Amino acid sequence: MTRQAVILAGGLGKRLRERLGDLPKPMIPFAGKPLLEIQIELARQHGFTDIVIFACHRADIIENHFGDGHRWGVNISYVIEREPLGTAGAVLAGLDRLAPNFAVMYGDTMLNVDLDRLWQTHERSHADATLFVHPNDHPLDSDLIEADAGGWITAFHNRPHPENRWFQNLVNAGLYVIKKSALQSWAGSATAMDFGKDLFPAMLRRGAKLLAYNSPEYIKDIGTPQRYDKICAEFAAGLPQRSSLETPQPAVFLDRDGTLNREADGLRSAEQLELLPGVAHAVHELNHYGFRVIVVTNQPVIAKGFCTEADVELIHRKLETLLGREHAFVDRIYYCPHHPDKGFTGERSELKIVCDCRKPNTGMIHQAVRELNLNLRRSWLIGDSTTDLETARRAGLRSILVRTGHAGKDGKFNATPDFVFPTLREAAQFVIEQLAAMP
Ligand SMILES: [Zn+2]
Repeated sequence: MTRQAVILAGGLGKRLRERLGDLPKPMIPFAGKPLLEIQIELARQHGFTDIVIFACHRADIIENHFGDGHRWGVNISYVIEREPLGTAGAVLAGLDRLAPNFAVMYGDTMLNVDLDRLWQTHERSHADATLFVHPNDHPLDSDLIEADAGGWITAFHNRPHPENRWFQNLVNAGLYVIKKSALQSWAGSATAMDFGKDLFPAMLRRGAKLLAYNSPEYIKDIGTPQRYDKICAEFAAGLPQRSSLETPQPAVFLDRDGTLNREADGLRSAEQLELLPGVAHAVHELNHYGFRVIVVTNQPVIAKGFCTEADVELIHRKLETLLGREHAFVDRIYYCPHHPDKGFTGERSELKIVCDCRKPNTGMIHQAVRELNLNLRRSWLIGDSTTDLETARRAGLRSILVRTGHAGKDGKFNATPDFVFPTLREAAQFVIEQLAAMP
């Protein structure tokens, strides 16, 4: 079946006027090619041959350039907006032109996303809408979403965010696959509406199933001259291509307690969480140099009944918020709630099992490889205990022991580190140098 992609190309681009001249925002060039053309080629590459462009400001320039799309191997049609209705308002007004399921791209985002994988995830999940989300390095001034362990969205937290509340670092990136029937009841309302601020929250309140598709692929909006210039430089350097899910990426796996945060002998509540000095900067640097950053942590406190999954997830929201304040993020946090030894009061017997995720087993590492396509040969595990070192040995990862937390003195496994550094800061610096030495 033909796949349909909607591109919202009506943006005025006021803030980009000095770079745009007379052009509408989606025609802004990257290495001489209009952004909209890059998007159409991406869509075509993933099997989207039916393209609907919603245009407004200087729609004539867009139509003259692309015509019916045959030069790009696609069929392009146009919906001309008479007045700006916002992202969702425009789609609702043109709903009768759309297919039963359709992808939505914003005409002001540079992206390199495997749209085929996104589409297939949407179809398999039977979601009403699937939203591409990701952590970013400025979550505090971003609109955030909250998702449960299965990826279903449970809340929208739009800016501004209250202080002293902890948020998952998951940002709506402005790329969706939507089931048309889920929008039918809003179709008549010709009022201005934004997907992220208005329509999706309203759908959630009415019980719609919204799936968060969390992916580390490249997607950034070009809203300001500064961002445009930065993305131009990244585009010229090939960053959108390099961060594709098709290419296995180097990763740094980080232990949590004693490596990122102060060891607290079975941390049980968010109040107890305190980042170690310098770790946010270290994580920021790893982000900047293109490592996937992944936390892998054993949390037997859950099996032992000392705290719940919800407590641990709140701890992780605080961890993400504290890192986000310093422009750092982690791509995933995996935790093992299990513990093998039965027979204690208050324990949760269903979690008192021998599992393959509890370190030094490598279940969490392999889950990350499956979900994020990682190149283990170029990856590292950094931790403070011999359990971490043994995990790295079993997974074939190079290991670094940090002298924080247990500092390797726990005596559980007879495993030696490949390298030793005082803190995560020096360890991160070292793996960045190694990446440059062996690209
Ligand atoms: Zn486990």
